[in-house]
Amino acid sequence: MNLDKAIRKVPDFPKPGILFYDITSIFTNPKAFKYVLGEMLKLYKDSGLDGIIAIESRGFVVGAPLALKMGIPLVMARKKGKLPGKTVSRSYSLEYGEATLEIHKEDLIPGKRWLIVDDLIATGGTIEATALMVESEGATVAGIFGIIGLPFLNYAAKIGKYGPKTLIDYHGE
Ligand code: AMP
Repeated sequence: MNLDKAIRKVPDFPKPGILFYDITSIFTNPKAFKYVLGEMLKLYKDSGLDGIIAIESRGFVVGAPLALKMGIPLVMARKKGKLPGKTVSRSYSLEYGEATLEIHKEDLIPGKRWLIVDDLIATGGTIEATALMVESEGATVAGIFGIIGLPFLNYAAKIGKYGPKTLIDYHGE
């Protein structure tokens, strides 16, 4: 499977100078989507996960089928103000902008092992904020997954210790 071909690249989106790697073109391509899920299953089926934390919103699309296939819980890390229950929250800087994520506090059961998934890992700030929420509740980050990695933005400095995995890396934008 040539995953690169399935990923649309959009220059200067959402602002000049950013090359946007668009994974919606994976989701409209059933072969590519199936390949991504199959690779995720191979990576994580034997890793003793207790659950998956998927990051809004493109992380939901890969996190949900993986959790269902593995028969483990799916927890949603959502943008500020969307979750109705008591939440734990973290703010962080993005490659472009600032954001806050929240998770229902009662979902982050202390001692459980979580895989955090998103579509793309750029600076690692989004994943790091999520990992810090997991750890603040006494749970463990057992893995990090992004379909795409942009290692030149040095996400390893923030989240390298969690052993991040990607299916394809790009080395410029
Ligand atoms: P970061 O926190 O810097 O790792 O940014 C990751 C988040 O921003 C992910 O949710 C991505 O969807 C989005 N993102 C950052 N840079 C890009 C890019 N060049 N193309 C597509 N999405 C991106």
